[in-house]
Amino acid sequence: SCGICVEKCPFDAIEIINLPSELEEEPVHRYGDNAFALYGLPTPEPGKVTGILGPNGIGKSTAVHALAGETTPNLGEYEGDSDWEAVLDRYRGTELQNYLEQLIDGEIEVARKPQYVDQIPKQFDGKVRQLLERTDERGELDYLVDELSIRPVLDQAIDSISGGELQRVALAATLARDVDFYFLDEITPYLDISQRMTAAQLIQELSEDGDRSMLVVEHDLAILDLLADTLHITYGEPGAYGVVTDPKSVRNGINEYLSGYLDNENMRIRPESITFEEHAPRAATKGQPLVEYPDLHKSYGEGEFSLDVEAGTIYESEVLGVVGPNGIGKSTLAKMFTGALDPDEGELDTQLDIAYKPQYIEIDQPMRVDAFLSSITDQFGSSYWNTEIAQPLQLERIMEQNLDDLSGGERQRVAIAACLSEDADLYLLDEPSAHLDVEQRVQATSAIRRYTENHDATAMVIDHDIYMIDLLSDRLMVFDGEPADHGTARPAQEMRAGMNDFLADLDITFRRDERTGRPRINKPGSQKDREQKRDGEYYYAN
Ligand code: ADP
Ligand code: ADP
Ligand code: MG
Repeated sequence: SCGICVEKCPFDAIEIINLPSELEEEPVHRYGDNAFALYGLPTPEPGKVTGILGPNGIGKSTAVHALAGETTPNLGEYEGDSDWEAVLDRYRGTELQNYLEQLIDGEIEVARKPQYVDQIPKQFDGKVRQLLERTDERGELDYLVDELSIRPVLDQAIDSISGGELQRVALAATLARDVDFYFLDEITPYLDISQRMTAAQLIQELSEDGDRSMLVVEHDLAILDLLADTLHITYGEPGAYGVVTDPKSVRNGINEYLSGYLDNENMRIRPESITFEEHAPRAATKGQPLVEYPDLHKSYGEGEFSLDVEAGTIYESEVLGVVGPNGIGKSTLAKMFTGALDPDEGELDTQLDIAYKPQYIEIDQPMRVDAFLSSITDQFGSSYWNTEIAQPLQLERIMEQNLDDLSGGERQRVAIAACLSEDADLYLLDEPSAHLDVEQRVQATSAIRRYTENHDATAMVIDHDIYMIDLLSDRLMVFDGEPADHGTARPAQEMRAGMNDFLADLDITFRRDERTGRPRINKPGSQKDREQKRDGEYYYAN
């Protein structure tokens, strides 16, 4: 066993998967006997944004707790006392020496944005303003509040704001601090594309101001690509061990990671590469209408948000991608389809059976994953269900865990599985990509697509991951308007026209990486950006 393939490597005709030589040495940190071990540490650099890319459960947070001085690495000696001098000895003569010396001398201050912003309301009671004021160490809070558009929620209670608002509040709270080392554990969950770009720009600005070090863990490759100056890859066996590579250039790092082979390390980290399918935009092939809905209108209270839905049709066996900024009414429309919310004007056929995965998943029951899923479908455990759902969503390893012990990514996969396991006319998934790592996204995408194809099922998928939307969807429904004020849901259109409408509104064009085909955001004003805008081809250029 090579630690990557569970049993005999099925690819030995191609290449023998080698174990990293690091494993012959002592780790930087080990949690206990037979417990997770971390090899190597990332190197924060003053004035730079350092990215970390790797699967969930591979030790990224562990590495950061060490660099933040929150845990003293034990160098594998989990039974004795650990001490920083030993760690420094180990890293003398490396790029990290300087950093560790300052850390030990108490010269380094750290601010950290936690990965799961949903947990913040459990730890902090009070208004957004109160949380933020405590962090305003640089006198830049007003600027951050405006850039991140959180002024409208300043006087709301922390436990009443949405996930996207929480994410932006957490970013503002972290970036408002005056420290040497900022650590941001995933910046994109629940943010729309322009909010993601704003967050990236604020992080870059801060790194350049006063030589601060920024370390960012991120699974959105397009954003990581824009944001980071250098990149560490983490690989290994999630839950067992993780290795942090030396820094790489961002483009090479991402491409090597996707290819499954690290050039400098001469290391295969995955039996197969993650390929980005480049396909012509799907031509919609229409089946029978599943729902024909009239013009709809919904508003919340006097002068609060209002949504206009233009009449449209959803066809049987199609996957509809749904895109638009946050706060534009996507979830409101989803809730009208499920019948949880009634339109003020217009009527919806509520005879439909709908399986719904909400954006924010609350499954805090003291119940095991297997018990929960078998309560949803009697197909549970059949070889068919295993192949279609459990395997691609990597559920085997978490079946015996309790729902309330799951990490964000695990919870997301269980919720997607629960939704697809229902017998329904329409599957409605609200932001299935949140908290999934790159491989999990690719696998979840193909699981959803394959499931709908094999079952002639109809699905609507709301997501901000443009690549996931492109791979999944037959047609695209675009929302526009003024977030938090009014929104309009346009009828679904063909992919090319829909992407062009959506991205023109954002003023962003994408090109494909020559080597891997992955979509990359063009630099605003670059030659490609100008050409594509001139041709009106925002996504499917070439
Ligand atoms: P990542 O940030 O890459 O998702 P983490 O560093 O959070 O990964 O975790 C890596 C592994 O270490 C996981 O298997 C996790 O369960 C385990 N782990 C994390 N913290 C502890 C701990 N305090 N004790 C034992 N195991 C832990
Ligand atoms: P999206 O899914 O596109 O992010 P939503 O449909 O969740 O947008 O919300 C649209 C707008 O309606 C937001 O400004 C949100 O704050 C507001 N909103 C949502 N639910 C309610 C409610 N129950 N009462 C008042 N305003 C609401
Ligand atoms: Mg983590």
